[in-house]
Amino acid sequence: MASDLPPTLIARAAAVRLLICDVDGVLTDGRIYFSDEGVESKAFFATDGVGLKLLQRADIEIAWITGSRAPAVEHRARVLGVKHVIMGVFDKLTPLRELCAQFNITPAACACIGDDLPDLPLLTACGLAITVPHAPDALKEAAHYVTQKPGGGGAVREVCDLILAAQNKAPDATLLRSA
Ligand SMILES: [Mg+2]
Repeated sequence: MASDLPPTLIARAAAVRLLICDVDGVLTDGRIYFSDEGVESKAFFATDGVGLKLLQRADIEIAWITGSRAPAVEHRARVLGVKHVIMGVFDKLTPLRELCAQFNITPAACACIGDDLPDLPLLTACGLAITVPHAPDALKEAAHYVTQKPGGGGAVREVCDLILAAQNKAPDATLLRSA
């Protein structure tokens, strides 16, 4: 899989210092469940969580930027040690600029993964832009990579593995042996 990726994509992944994830449709499959009492819940994919922990262990920062607000998101982020969670924003470029200033990096050193039109400005701005199979064509046209796995079903782990392998930090760096 990774060995089939173009060298330009691997070069972009090698430069990543910060991964920005949208939440609904990326870390989840996009479904939002409501109980009869109106309590909202979402399902996260455990394998994505392992990937995000591996990235943090490799000193790559993680941020979640989402237009929605949900306690479940805060809880999941806390479990995974994700410290930068920006919720309830439509303009995602402002937090991108703030995060870049905080980490003293440029957007070229940022990867982002999003699944819908509010993510498009981020995809256009970041050095590595990624989307998922169910995304609208506009995102696929802007993205450097479309994951094989679906949002909420391993897409984020696929991105984590790509970045780690490109930086020779993967548990199994042989993923890129023939790249
Ligand atoms: Mg989304």
